[in-house]
Order: sequence, then structure tokens, then C-alpha cells
Amino acid sequence: MSRIAVIGLGIMGLPMAVNLVKAGHDVVGFNRSQDKIDKLVSAGGTGAADVAEAVKDAEIILTMVPDSPDVEAVVLGEEGVFANAKSGAYWVDASTIRPDVSVRLAATAAEAGVKALDAPVSGGEQGAIEGSLSIMVGGAAEDFEAVRPALEAVGGTIVHVGPAGSGQTVKAANQLIVAGTIQLVAEALVFLEAHSVDTEAAIRVLAGGLAGNRILDRKAASMAARTFEPGFRVDLHHKDLGIVTAAAREAGVAIPLGALTAQLMGSLRAQGHGSLDHSALLILVEQLSGRASR
Ligand code: NAP
Repeated sequence: MSRIAVIGLGIMGLPMAVNLVKAGHDVVGFNRSQDKIDKLVSAGGTGAADVAEAVKDAEIILTMVPDSPDVEAVVLGEEGVFANAKSGAYWVDASTIRPDVSVRLAATAAEAGVKALDAPVSGGEQGAIEGSLSIMVGGAAEDFEAVRPALEAVGGTIVHVGPAGSGQTVKAANQLIVAGTIQLVAEALVFLEAHSVDTEAAIRVLAGGLAGNRILDRKAASMAARTFEPGFRVDLHHKDLGIVTAAAREAGVAIPLGALTAQLMGSLRAQGHGSLDHSALLILVEQLSGRASR
């Protein structure tokens, strides 16, 4: 069992930290707002006053914050992870950030004697609670093998996908597929409703055929009920579609459907819906169809 520091105890980080506690690890958490640290403490973890205190004795440091600048704020500087971690500690960044930032930070970590892995996750809040996340890991193979037992407490499918930054590239592809699928499910739901079809029955039969997918299984019912509690915030998916469109452009790859979905996600956010679940793309389909419910 390891001493594991978890920085960022939000929708994903808190349940991941709790699962590490349940697996028997000694977990110390830090978060910007105190109430989430209190939740970890009541689940059997320990709270730290700052990043430096959280990481000083940790063998593994897991970060789970929103975006590239947030990760940089947590790891760099005198108060950050790299300056305060033990030499030889493993830094596992589960946040979804830009692959190029991940590569740069891995090099900076190495200079500080810290072994970096980018390990973004997929599976949503439910996957984090269940400990069944899909984890795509970039970094050295031996470092991956060293942290794999700890990752097994939070993930069901854990795959080493290549050198530093590769995990983030795979995650960008994941976000492309998820956004596009949500958009198509939203369009199908509004279409079915317009034809007065029993949507619950339609979802059930569609889920059993070639159109079956996880969005249909996990989100179609709440979308049909117009419940958009996050989950995964529109703000965060907007960030991720920015990452994938920039990375596709850099590689000279055309992603027409992804680019269109990125525009729709940006529009949803511009209309003030950034804190809703990404399945709120349905709101735009309704608006475009002249059937707005809000
Ligand atoms: P979230 O609920 O916003 O949680 C982020 C947490 O990080 C918040 O508790 C925030 O503290 C904390 N934080 C931010 N900056 C910090 C700092 N400098 N020091 C300490 N704590 C800091 O976001 P989330 O949904 O958990 O997502 C986290 C990451 O996972 C993102 O990169 C996201 O794209 C990715 N992800 C999310 C999902 C999902 O379904 N939600 C799924 C897969 C991947 P405050 O309490 O002050 O806000």
C-alpha cells in the first residue's frame, strides 16, 4: 500500500481519492476549497493545508484539476509538487490537458527527480464512483508498471498507450467521440419526440442494436427528462474540443464533424450554459428546430 497525495477533489478527484482509501492506501488530499477536503477526511483520508504538505511524504501524487494552467499552478513554483515531492516520487496527472503541456511538464518533472505519467480518464462521475474508469497512460513503461496497482483502485481498463503526452492525445480522441455521440443522440431524441414516438421504448430498442452506445445507456433518459446536472460540465468539454481541434490542425487531419460539434459546444457555453452537463447539447438541437423548452 502506498502513501498517495490527491490534489483536486472535485467531481472526479474526490471519488477517486475515496476509492484509494477503500483500497487501503494512505491518502492525503488537498483542494482549493476546504469543504471537499472535509469530505475526504470523513471518508477516511487526511487533509493537507497546501500542496507542499500533501506531497512531501507521498510515493504517488495524483492531480485532478480542470485545465492546463491549473495543472501548471499546482506542479510548478516553490509551493508546487515538483519543488516539494520526494525524489523518485511518481506524479500521475489524471486531468485532461493539452498533450504538448503534458510533454513539457514531464521533462520539468524529470529535472526535479519526479517520474511523470499523464493518465487522463474516461467514464464520468459514475465511473469514478464505481472505480471503473478507463485510464489512458503516457510515460515510461516501467513507471506505468510501478503505479498500475494503485490505478487499479480507480480504474477498470488501464492501458499504457505510449510515451509522455500520449495519454492526453488518446483522451482528446475520446472527447471527440463522446461529443459527437451526444450530439447525435440529442438529435435522435428531438426527432423521435417530434414524431410523438415513445422515447423510452425507442431508447431501449436502439440500445440493443448497432446504434447502441454508452451515451444512450447512461444519458439518454436524463436528456429526455431535460435534467442536465453535471456530470461533465459544458465548460470542460469546450476546453477538450479546443484541445482536439488544435491537435488535429497541428497534425494536418480534418475532423469536420468534430469541428462542427466544437462550435455547437462553444455556442451552448456562450449562451450561459457552461455549468450544465455536456448532454445539454440537446438544448441547441431544440432551439435550431424551433422547439425550445427553455
Ligand atoms: P471539478 O469538479 O471542477 O474539480 C476540479 C477540482 O480541482 C475542484 O475541486 C477545484 O477546487 C480543484 N482545483 C482547481 N485548481 C486547484 C488548485 N490550484 N489547487 C487545488 N485544487 C484546485 O472538475 P472535474 O469534473 O472533477 O474534472 C477534473 C478533470 O478531469 C478535468 O480535466 C476534466 O476535463 C477531467 N474529467 C472529468 C470528467 C467528468 O465527468 N467530470 C470525466 C473525465 C475527465 P474548487 O473546489 O475550488 O473548485
